[in-house]
Amino acid sequence: MNGSESLRDMGRDTRAGVSRLVLLGPPGAGKGTQAARLADRLGVPHIATGSILREAVDLGTPLGRDVRPLLDAGDLVPDDLIVKTVLERIRQPDAAEGFILDGFPRTLGQAEALDSALSDLGRPLQRVIQLRVPEDEVAGRIAGRGEVAHRSDDREDIVADRLRVYDTETAPLAEYYRSRGVLVPVDGVGPIDEVARRIWDALA
Ligand code: ADP
Repeated sequence: MNGSESLRDMGRDTRAGVSRLVLLGPPGAGKGTQAARLADRLGVPHIATGSILREAVDLGTPLGRDVRPLLDAGDLVPDDLIVKTVLERIRQPDAAEGFILDGFPRTLGQAEALDSALSDLGRPLQRVIQLRVPEDEVAGRIAGRGEVAHRSDDREDIVADRLRVYDTETAPLAEYYRSRGVLVPVDGVGPIDEVARRIWDALA
């Protein structure tokens, strides 16, 4: 290891060089919480598409104006739009050493676009952590969160729609990544620290 490498790695934990990850799981599985902790520990950016889109809505940018009705309804935004947004983010210098994707990809089309872009960059995904939480538990967690966070899409009927969209559009990604040998299922039920430890172990 040369001097610049050791300096760059100071204060950062590494896990066998694993730094390009996706967290997969239903709404309410705890992806955001765990992705933030993992990103911190690995020293790579946490890229959460839901947060990026909600920020665009709050700022009233052109992207925000386009996606607002879709977010409010719990529908997915079009693949081309979100793929473009994520690839721009991944090309930023702070993501050169890796990234944790949270909320993306959500469709097979998005997964294929991501794979092809990352393989062009010579930086393929290394792990897809599948956070597994039973459906009745995620619905309860989101209901609790809606009372505190006031997200426009945490209304009960919209949550049901988001879970349906997850089942039809996103759940099939587990098989896609399993067949590519990168899927690691992790039990997402339990205290936050305990789940974080399971995820860390899963990177080894
Ligand atoms: P959650 O995982 O709790 O459902 P997110 O914050 O990840 O919430 O996403 C909120 C909303 O943002 C989604 O319901 C959808 O409208 C939009 N969105 C986020 N990521 C994507 C994506 N990859 N593709 C399409 N739409 C997305």
